Amino acid sequence: MNAMVLKKLGTALESTELADRQPGPGEIRVKVAACGVCRTDLHVVDGELPDPQVPIIPGHEIVGRIDVIGSGVDGLCVGERVGIPWLGHTCGVCPYCMGGRENLCDRSIFTGYTRDGGFATATIADARFAFPLGEAGSDVALAPLLCAGLIGWRSLVIAGEGKRLGLYGFGAAAHIVAQVATWQGRSVLAFTRPGDVATQAFARRLNAIWAGGSDEMPPQPLDAAIIFAAVGDLVPKALKAVRKGGRVVCAGIHMSDIPSFPYRLLWEERQIVSVANLTRQDGIDFLRLAPEIGIVTETTSYPLHQANQALADLRAGRFEGAAVLVP
Ligand SMILES: [Zn+2]
Ligand SMILES: [Zn+2]
Repeated sequence: MNAMVLKKLGTALESTELADRQPGPGEIRVKVAACGVCRTDLHVVDGELPDPQVPIIPGHEIVGRIDVIGSGVDGLCVGERVGIPWLGHTCGVCPYCMGGRENLCDRSIFTGYTRDGGFATATIADARFAFPLGEAGSDVALAPLLCAGLIGWRSLVIAGEGKRLGLYGFGAAAHIVAQVATWQGRSVLAFTRPGDVATQAFARRLNAIWAGGSDEMPPQPLDAAIIFAAVGDLVPKALKAVRKGGRVVCAGIHMSDIPSFPYRLLWEERQIVSVANLTRQDGIDFLRLAPEIGIVTETTSYPLHQANQALADLRAGRFEGAAVLVP
């Protein structure tokens, strides 16, 4: 197999030939057809997440077909198309797993961070954490659903039922959430980097009722806001934009420090919460709904060996929607 491997934190991925791997008990081997590029991959490469492990193959929005099945795997077959998400393994016995919050498992393993991911021609996955995807939709179009879609979905659920939803950072996740929220009958307001008129136009194309800079206030207060950008400065800005009792959801795994702010921004029962990872139930719920909503992902494809270019373009905001690597 060939893989783009992070050998040292903060350096470029290196194209590397590796021996083919065999799935262990409970595992499957998947021939990768497409793998989305997520902001979390940048945090992995930059060494911004705790307990980094190198060498590692990043990538956790994997679409591919099973080509070998390990012992003890039920319900999957060779040739079946599956999606492999960020949550790669949980212990099943810790209080979080037992309490229906496996996203917070004490001993979780994450695809592309603490186990090898999908920036490769093949990958090994825990079969229990692979989602059957069926045959509808292209591999590239589905890839961003595996993290941007899933984390976006979890964030939207946690944001509550409010009708006026602000999205801060209009990238891969927000462009999917905007479609879900609009389908649910909500109004989406998009906040981008100040002056980023291209992304604001992109948001309006996806039926945002308003789009502007993150330094602007919405025309009316928001019921809830989701912050997808890894920018702590946005927390007080979003708090200022939500109504009394409104909620600000921080959806990223890493964020720059949140500056201090006057208590009156939090006063009147406004809330700040974070979203961490996903549960398999999130995946089942969202992937069942996605075809019904008719989510259309905006993607830019790169050959696998151009993974570094895709990461650089993501960092610089050079495309709308999501980047997807194709082996
Ligand atoms: Zn656990
Ligand atoms: Zn991700």
